[in-house]
Amino acid sequence: MSTAARAVQRVTVLGATGSIGVSTLDVLARFPERYEVFALTGQNQVALLAEQCRRFRPSYAVVTDETAGQALRELLRGHTGTEVLVGTTALADVAAAPEADVVMAAIVGAAGLLPTLAAVQAGKRVLLANKEALVMAGNLFMSAVAQHQALLLPIDSEHNAIFQCLPADYRGVAAAGVDRILLSASGGPFRTRPVHELATVTPDEACAHPNWSMGRKISVDSATMMNKGLELIEACWLFQVGAERVQVVIHPQSIVHSLVSYVDGSVLAQLGNPDMRTPIAHALAWPDRMPSGVDALDLFRIGRLDFEEPDLERFPCLRLAAGAAAAGGSAPTALNAANEVAVAAFLEGMLPFTAIAQVVETVLNSTDIVPLQSLEQVLACDAAARRRAGAAVANLAA
Ligand code: NAD
Ligand code: MG
Repeated sequence: MSTAARAVQRVTVLGATGSIGVSTLDVLARFPERYEVFALTGQNQVALLAEQCRRFRPSYAVVTDETAGQALRELLRGHTGTEVLVGTTALADVAAAPEADVVMAAIVGAAGLLPTLAAVQAGKRVLLANKEALVMAGNLFMSAVAQHQALLLPIDSEHNAIFQCLPADYRGVAAAGVDRILLSASGGPFRTRPVHELATVTPDEACAHPNWSMGRKISVDSATMMNKGLELIEACWLFQVGAERVQVVIHPQSIVHSLVSYVDGSVLAQLGNPDMRTPIAHALAWPDRMPSGVDALDLFRIGRLDFEEPDLERFPCLRLAAGAAAAGGSAPTALNAANEVAVAAFLEGMLPFTAIAQVVETVLNSTDIVPLQSLEQVLACDAAARRRAGAAVANLAA
């Protein structure tokens, strides 16, 4: 039976225990007649995963290691209908399984690449939150989308907004009459903090985002604005546009999620409250619409919308990512890997906040910019960049 003909869509949620995963289940729970959960995955938050299994009754629950697997089986004793699987192959299996119609790709970081790619190669409707997968393997990823006729729908609020502001039959910026894409950025928690104080900010301060509630890695990325850099690269791949046509616009209220500027002077924007359930519901229902649980936007309460230019001295990660986007090939892969290593070290208290950019720059400076044509080349570049980043962290450690 074709996917479109199924009355009930079956959904695999990769990264179900994370911020996006939980929001996805919140939306799915509103429409039990339309959506069934086929599989849920988590790294090791077994208590939450067990609770989700009891509530959503997926056929499979996947965790990454045997210890978590045993703990989950223990917690699910007496619950029937959910089989617990362990390991990265199982992640890819539940993403590519013929029973799944929709895959929410919401694992954080490079760990999401293989299962997300498996979903793409199986031609699923793929809801892409895991931007790192696209950044590290953009060429390969987008070729697989075309080859396997996957339906790739962006969940990142900015890209979902851009998608909504482009014509339904979009075939590239030139054909659509697009002049520029304006990528919104909140500026994060340190937009106005004196620059000399940034060296001593703590992980908890970096994770306290003014508008969005998110996982810790993306929260730190938002504080350095590497998140916007990754999103710039993500936009280039998703919308087949050169980096020079994507302009980052600081918009502290996070109400205008991004804009598209057309050659005739028209600018279309998508607005909404900062709540990821809007892009999640949009991508689940597209091309239809369905309620998401998000409150209607109250413009009178918001009152004003501000915009400013990003400060590249305050946010060197944004400059580094723009450079990697322009360089292409292995540069974004190395940038992403170095950033993951540096952010993990910062979150563990091993590295000052300002050293994140230094680690990324050191790694980029020692990266040979070459095209990456195979998955093996992508993974080798990622691993080599991680090794060099580890050495840079050791040199800079607090
Ligand atoms: P999170 O840290 O809250 O959740 C991450 C999920 O991935 C968890 O379920 C975790 O168990 C799983 N995971 C982590 N490491 C794993 C590994 N090695 N193997 C298997 N599973 C693993 O993160 P999040 O905020 O939900 O973000 C998820 C993705 O969505 C990220 O790529 C992020 O950039 C993107 N995103 C998030 C938001 C947001 O509002 N949270 C917005 C836009 C994009
Ligand atoms: Mg975003």
